[in-house]
Amino acid sequence: MRVGVGTDVHPVEAGRDCWIAGLRWDGVDGCAGHSDGDVAAHALCDALLSAAGLGDLGAVFGTGRPEWTGASGVVLLGEVRRLLSGEGWTVGNAAVQVIGNAPKVGTRRAEAQQVLSVAVGGPVSVSGTTTDGLGLTGRGEGIAAIATALLLQAP
Ligand code: MG
Repeated sequence: MRVGVGTDVHPVEAGRDCWIAGLRWDGVDGCAGHSDGDVAAHALCDALLSAAGLGDLGAVFGTGRPEWTGASGVVLLGEVRRLLSGEGWTVGNAAVQVIGNAPKVGTRRAEAQQVLSVAVGGPVSVSGTTTDGLGLTGRGEGIAAIATALLLQAP
């Protein structure tokens, strides 16, 4: 068994489509970035890569691999899952917490957990919190996510 940790933060951009935890959130400003800005999916990718000792998103999907530019968070999770399988890892479970004023992930928790669990091939828990108005997430300037993952080596 191996555990890993991942975090991500993106700036919020007014009028941009919001993709968080593999879901589109109508009426919520999304995150800027070359990708869909799905901080929850990105934090999960980093947690999974961390647990497997395979580096991080920048190392796996960085500037040397332009074919991944603009890929959705769920597509990146699928590729991470493929890399892990190649090394004999399966996902025991993973958890991700979204930190920000919006979206309220708890309102669609089951849906988000379903999408992310299918993407990684193991159970994913989704939770949310705020920072009570403090910091970049509290001011609505950005959305953050923290994730952990437990991997199991296939027998
Ligand atoms: Mg990111």
